[in-house]
Amino acid sequence: MLDIQKIRADFPILSEKVNGKTLVYFDNGATSQKPQVVIDAISKYYQEINANIHRGVHTLSQLATDAYEISRGKIQNHINAKFSHEVLFTSGTTFGINLVANGFTSLLKEGDEVIVSALEHHSNIVPWQMLCERTRAVLKVIPMNEKGELIMEEYDKLLSDRTKIVTVNHISNALGTVNPIKEIISKAHAVGAAVLIDGAQAVPHLRPDVQALDCDFYVFSGHKMCGPTGIGILYGKEDWLNKLPPYQGGGDMIKEVTFEKTTYAGLPFKFEAGTPNIAGGIVLGTAIDYMNEVGFENIQAQELELLEYGTKRLIEIEGLNIVGTAENKTSVISFNIKGIHPYDIGTIVDKLGIAVRTGHHCAQPIMNHFNIPGTIRASFAFYNTKEEIDAMIEAIKKAVMMLS
Ligand code: PMP
Repeated sequence: MLDIQKIRADFPILSEKVNGKTLVYFDNGATSQKPQVVIDAISKYYQEINANIHRGVHTLSQLATDAYEISRGKIQNHINAKFSHEVLFTSGTTFGINLVANGFTSLLKEGDEVIVSALEHHSNIVPWQMLCERTRAVLKVIPMNEKGELIMEEYDKLLSDRTKIVTVNHISNALGTVNPIKEIISKAHAVGAAVLIDGAQAVPHLRPDVQALDCDFYVFSGHKMCGPTGIGILYGKEDWLNKLPPYQGGGDMIKEVTFEKTTYAGLPFKFEAGTPNIAGGIVLGTAIDYMNEVGFENIQAQELELLEYGTKRLIEIEGLNIVGTAENKTSVISFNIKGIHPYDIGTIVDKLGIAVRTGHHCAQPIMNHFNIPGTIRASFAFYNTKEEIDAMIEAIKKAVMMLS
């Protein structure tokens, strides 16, 4: 059992006032808050070892390089990658997906197929559409049912020897659905297709084991798991990363440059052109250490309790409809209230100190499926409490009274 008050004391922002009210932060799906150890580690880097990495022989450069590479090793261990050079630092999930989609340009031909799902964030749709435009490959979509679960029988029908890559999220940001990715991966492999998993919403809640999953690529962002913005990870199997061309050219990614011909560095540097977010890379390791200290079993137990309590309390509100009722879901509740626009609720509860997300959550096809303009989304983290849920319920009730 977590000592929630002790955990909350690690997050200075949770005692801030917003609009004169104590902050209730339920927009964790967009970005998580940061514990003091993470905030301190950023300052410590700039105060004590700031230097460019992989270049200098001087001491600071070596200290910064060591810290960056130690962090890569921590992340390798955290996701159980076989080699540390399979762990690439990126600026985030979006960058990682674009890197892979771009790399597939030379591997696809007209008539090949790319499979995405109906539950994707725009950043796991648009790069693949752009790839299909470049290559004249065809984009196929795994549909979902009314609960917001992927229809696996339809997935089976889409798979064929034309399928070259399947790309789905581990957990949906808009509805919280946890997808059966192990089954999705093994079925794609059976027809010889590669698989990319968008783990942006999974890593705050669980520890992915990329070898057990057997995915070819797994991408995520640091900022959703207590780390800073502007840093993320692309895991790729060694064979795949060797097969893909570099995404950006520049310093650090080369072996030798002449005007006649350039040869590229080995993994992971082939994909890490230019000066990276050094502090971000180092501090992502600190964030992962913090989350492991809290413990993912504890995190999941707390979040499940919040999900159950939040669902029970929300459905007490007249006219409230939960969108996304998958059997297997994480601590995200998307909902609408009959006759009221989500934006109006979001604006009023914000004045009462409650931060929830309103809108399409970068997943317009999901909103189209349910024929709604958007939802109100409360996404809980392990540092949230039932008392905060009570405060949200009171605020929503007030908003409904004002708006009806
Ligand atoms: N995929 C999913 C499922 C997400 O929730 C997000 C962030 N909302 C992204 C991709 C994009 O992540 P980022 O903006 O950090 O690149």
